[in-house]
Amino acid sequence: MLLCKKIKIEVSDQGTEALEFMQDKCRGLYNWWVMQLRNGERWNLKRAKKSLRASKQYDPELRYVYGKLLAEVYFRLDNAMQGFFRRLEAGEKPGFPRVKPRHRFFTLCYPAMYLEVQGNSIILPTGGGGNWGPKRYPNIVAHLTEDPPDHFQEIAVSRDARGNYFCSFVYDDAEQHEQDGEHKPGKRRKKRKHYPIREDGIVAFDLGIKTLATGVNDQGHFYHIGGFKGYRWYNKQLDKIRSKRDKCKKKSRRYIHLSKVYKRVAERKRRKQQDCLHKASHLIAHRLAERAVVIGDLSQRQMVMKKQENGTPKERKKRRIRNRMVYNDWGLYGFVQMLEYKCLRFGKALSIIDERDTTRMCHACKHKQDMPLWKRTYRCENENCGLVMDRDENSAVNIYQRFLAGPPPHTL
Ligand SMILES: [Zn+2]
Repeated sequence: MLLCKKIKIEVSDQGTEALEFMQDKCRGLYNWWVMQLRNGERWNLKRAKKSLRASKQYDPELRYVYGKLLAEVYFRLDNAMQGFFRRLEAGEKPGFPRVKPRHRFFTLCYPAMYLEVQGNSIILPTGGGGNWGPKRYPNIVAHLTEDPPDHFQEIAVSRDARGNYFCSFVYDDAEQHEQDGEHKPGKRRKKRKHYPIREDGIVAFDLGIKTLATGVNDQGHFYHIGGFKGYRWYNKQLDKIRSKRDKCKKKSRRYIHLSKVYKRVAERKRRKQQDCLHKASHLIAHRLAERAVVIGDLSQRQMVMKKQENGTPKERKKRRIRNRMVYNDWGLYGFVQMLEYKCLRFGKALSIIDERDTTRMCHACKHKQDMPLWKRTYRCENENCGLVMDRDENSAVNIYQRFLAGPPPHTL
């Protein structure tokens, strides 16, 4: 299976300048095409690629950008356009490709066959040289802070909000294991433990905000996975720093300093949260014994919440956006994506099923009642039932039962 390893790189000042120059030019080319297409130009990959020569005549500085990077711009745009056509055909929100903003780094994609790794350095070519004319920047020598994978297929160079550069190596993990066994006997690699798998085991999870994941398996055993706790502390810090900054004169020394601190703290919060989601998804996909993993479909959650609101359409829209923001901020969507690929990697079957009313319904008597977010315990109103249970556990049991009984789910 294809995996990706992201490694921080160290680059000289001149190398930084070259990277910034090239990404700026690539973005320029991309945006110019997006604008053309917006004005009704028809997209054709072949023709677009042929137009590079004319573009270089128009902007001779493009010659200082490594040619494969420029070629990659067309493929990237082609991808975006194909996605647009596909959504259009499926009747979804089409989402025309957008102009890339200047403050963000335009990711540079290098095909692997033109790259050279020497020990802990990688050489990233720039444009020009030989028959191609003069070189403005020499090839960039980047120092890798970790060992790269052995056989990689391509590399993406990116930058984070704080100005650190990274190389992401795409590689096939099957090719790696052979290598490790045969050629590097001395090299110590962390051994991945193998956990037993119950082939007929099923575990169903309710994903939420208070508890990241609450699960129940076919033996009636409950799992509780807590999730990222420090968001409140971080948000408070961030608000404080921002308010301090906003009292300063714009562009003053202190203003700039506080902006940097803000970025640093925000980054740390993001990292901690990502790390937590990675660990939780790894736990579910790798450590748990059940072979089938079931979760509710998050995209339906929005609709359920939207329906409950009664107000003006404008208010409803605002609420919906805010709901989405909450789930996004918590990273639940990212969490599902991590689960998808990790389950695939560790040979588990992930199913996503309709989760309508799983929170509202009593799992014992099927009675439905309103469950506002603050109610943490499900107390069934049906006198003959009287179930009292943690709301997330009840929801997990519902998802489990629906998976067993319901219509065939779409398995990934
Ligand atoms: Zn009940």
